[in-house]
Amino acid sequence: MSFTLAIVGRPNVGKSTLFNRLVGKRLALVDDQPGVTRDLREGDARLADLRFTVIDTAGLEEATDESLQGRMRKLTERAVDMADICLFMIDARAGVTTTDEVFAEILRKRAKHVILAANKGEGAAADAGVIEAYSLGLGEPIRLSAEHGEGLNDLYLHLMPLADGFAERAAEDAPEVDVTLDEDEAEAGEDGPALRPITDAKPLQIAVVGRPNAGKSTLINQILGEEKLLTGPEAGITRDAISSRTSWEGTPVRIFDTAGMRKKAKVQDKLEKLSVSDGLRAVKFAEVVVVLLDAEIPFESQDLRIADLAEREGRAVVIAVNKWDIEEDRQGKLRDLKEAFERLLPQLRGAPLVTVSAKTGRGLDRLHAAIMKAHDVWNRRVSTAQLNRWLTGMLEQHPPPAPQGKRIKLRYMTQAKTRPPGFVVMCSHPDKLPASYSRYLVNGLREDFDMPGTPIRLFMRGQS
Ligand code: GDP
Ligand code: GDP
Repeated sequence: MSFTLAIVGRPNVGKSTLFNRLVGKRLALVDDQPGVTRDLREGDARLADLRFTVIDTAGLEEATDESLQGRMRKLTERAVDMADICLFMIDARAGVTTTDEVFAEILRKRAKHVILAANKGEGAAADAGVIEAYSLGLGEPIRLSAEHGEGLNDLYLHLMPLADGFAERAAEDAPEVDVTLDEDEAEAGEDGPALRPITDAKPLQIAVVGRPNAGKSTLINQILGEEKLLTGPEAGITRDAISSRTSWEGTPVRIFDTAGMRKKAKVQDKLEKLSVSDGLRAVKFAEVVVVLLDAEIPFESQDLRIADLAEREGRAVVIAVNKWDIEEDRQGKLRDLKEAFERLLPQLRGAPLVTVSAKTGRGLDRLHAAIMKAHDVWNRRVSTAQLNRWLTGMLEQHPPPAPQGKRIKLRYMTQAKTRPPGFVVMCSHPDKLPASYSRYLVNGLREDFDMPGTPIRLFMRGQS
């Protein structure tokens, strides 16, 4: 048994676009029963290693009269009842509408699990709508762009812990593309989709990325304790990330990697290309990204690109320098590495840099600790009271500019999200505030609230 996800929301928010993205060409046969089911589309969805059924309430028109509204409600309720999990979608560009509020009410009453998604989330035009979505009282929204395929990583992270509660997830559906090594997956609930509580069992999701030969497989094998990665699927069969689950120093982790795929591919000349695009995929599904460098050739352009991508995707980042066992001048080398790191990756300021030997296992305890810390910071929440005290101090120390003699006022600040931390500042003329002032605030937040190694998002919001 897998699970069923219903995508619900008012017309035109992007439900079908997401449906098509999840289902691709694997659309199930159209149900030709008379009546309301004709308006429900069903398909077999894939998201990385997840396999599930997705339902879309297709063919709805914006309800203007009462009968249409009734039909919309009926159809939604039907989809909700069929589903284990509901993805409630709003249009972040349009903000929250009264129809959205009606839907939210239905879901609150009826749905087993609700995931809130603010779609059309690409670009700054969606910032305000994403924040507004909190007002629906359905928790933190996922910022999605169904059209551009952005935010699917977050969707995955929300689905994963729920999905972990359903039986025989991927093993049955697609054994050829999955090398998850979970013994526990196969034995979970034979009696159908009973959800078990997941909060404490949720594994920390880690991606190990880096150039070919940096030592990724060696590192992961060392963590897994066995030569497991060599049994990857054939390259070309799947474009999905491969994951392995284990317990690392007592922490349940899921490690995303592509080395196994690459190993079997035996296409040496395509190594570079494969490892970059696969690395990207792994990054999308991770909470913490470990950028593994070869101490002999650190900070290659490929390393820099993937580290930058991890930052832009909002992942927590740990830099690990491998093959430290063969390094002779360790002190000198470490100095050089730190200097290069600050110069080449200023956007990752403060991210931990750990030296390891994947081969001997030395330094892996420190790597583990750095990952845990980065993950913790990534999840950190600062109270509104603390933030506003802090903001007052920052404003006094260095007042914002006054273009044309009118000072820009920063009135109030709150943390709108975690994973990574995101803050909203209410501001009198957000468009006039220079980027340097935002940077001043971001760097201040990082220092004063001890948030190294995590991307920090700052949204300036005008007051209307
Ligand atoms: P549905 O009625 O909720 O199923 O919405 P559709 O999937 O048919 O999408 C409605 C419109 O929004 C279409 O024109 C899509 O191309 C557009 N759309 C969907 N997702 C996005 C997105 O992420 N960004 C933007 N800008 N437009 C989107
Ligand atoms: P991948 O391509 O990133 O998966 O790299 P591999 O794990 O296949 O390692 C590439 C080569 O580097 C292999 O010959 C490994 O034995 C070697 N290697 C990996 N880690 C270490 C290390 O910590 N020290 C040394 N000396 N060699 C290593």
